[in-house]
Amino acid sequence: MAIYDVALLPGDGIGPEVLLEAVKALERVAAISGDELGFRFTELDAGAGRWFRTGSAFDDDAYARCAQADAILLGAMGLPEARHPDGREAGSDVIFRLRFGLDLYAGIRPVRLYDGAPTPLRDVADGIDYLIVRENTEGLYAARAGGSRVEGRAASDTAIITRFGTERIARHAFELAGRRRGRPLDGQSLVTCVDKANVLGSYAFFREIVEEVARGYDGVGCECVYVDAMALYLVSRPAAYDVVVTENMFGDILSDLGAATVGGLGLAPSADVGDRHGLFQPAHGSAPDIAGSGSANPLAAILSAAMMLDWLGRRHEDEAAIRAGDWIEEAVSQALASGEALTRDLGGARSTAEAGAAVLHVLERLVS
Ligand code: NAD
Repeated sequence: MAIYDVALLPGDGIGPEVLLEAVKALERVAAISGDELGFRFTELDAGAGRWFRTGSAFDDDAYARCAQADAILLGAMGLPEARHPDGREAGSDVIFRLRFGLDLYAGIRPVRLYDGAPTPLRDVADGIDYLIVRENTEGLYAARAGGSRVEGRAASDTAIITRFGTERIARHAFELAGRRRGRPLDGQSLVTCVDKANVLGSYAFFREIVEEVARGYDGVGCECVYVDAMALYLVSRPAAYDVVVTENMFGDILSDLGAATVGGLGLAPSADVGDRHGLFQPAHGSAPDIAGSGSANPLAAILSAAMMLDWLGRRHEDEAAIRAGDWIEEAVSQALASGEALTRDLGGARSTAEAGAAVLHVLERLVS
């Protein structure tokens, strides 16, 4: 039996509320799987709350435990008022330390329109189902805390694009495309490179390398689109995309845009993975405006747990984990379609706990 050590980082605001529902889903699939699957959870204190209490958002011991775990599951980090003197938020220290320290170079953000989820788009007859693969350790954000300031007169940050970093994120994107069903429009397998190669040499370099890597993947098409046009296309023809590979900041922005087209941040899961470590978290933040109200949507956190199972399963060749991840995703899909998991952000009235319970209920039915 595979027992996975999972480090839990509930964090701030709604983080602990949504993580609780994700853990319940994991416990339920473990129970259903009998002796095939199990988890050992270690809850760790990190985030803005810890920063207020101790002056540090994340200590070395918690970081080391994350590094030793099989996977990390996170709720949300940060509160807008918890800021370092230079204005950066203390909560993001946790995520950046994990991303850079554990070399979690691939940020994977699925954008999928489930039946029953609201969309502001007029024509979604072909569906929406694409993955944004964001380079997580380079680009403009690599300059975090390393930019320069000339007193109160000027500031600059530098984008870093390396051959090594671009090759590995491009390979990751093509490999993911190879095991998907293609774009909803016509089933074509396609990697879309998003950049700003018409203005900056660093993005032209990124594009050149993605095109080089593409030549090694028969059966998966490759196209390149400027980021401004892509913002338009993800709204006007989202069914034309399968896997989108892009630089750090562009991926950050486009994934929130994509989330808005499929029901919002409450339905946007994510994975930050490297060759040895994986961090899974809803794409949303700590939502201080609704924390404690019991109205947060837990589905992004639950879907992130499903992504964790899929990643663990593939890494350890563990069919039971892959199957359990599929069950959770299917349960979320059916709970949404039935209306039983519609929280306030999705136009419903279910509480966090009720939406989580609806998913557990479908899980039981699915498996029996
Ligand atoms: P946010 O994602 O917390 O909230 C944006 C809006 O979406 C709010 O109106 C919120 O109520 C709503 N929302 C978010 N998640 C929801 C959910 N699950 N259910 C229902 N509604 C939801 O973004 P923000 O307000 O810009 O940031 C708040 C704090 O979170 C900041 O301190 C920010 O730095 C932090 N943050 C953390 C992460 C992370 O942990 N990965 C990501 C983004 C923001």
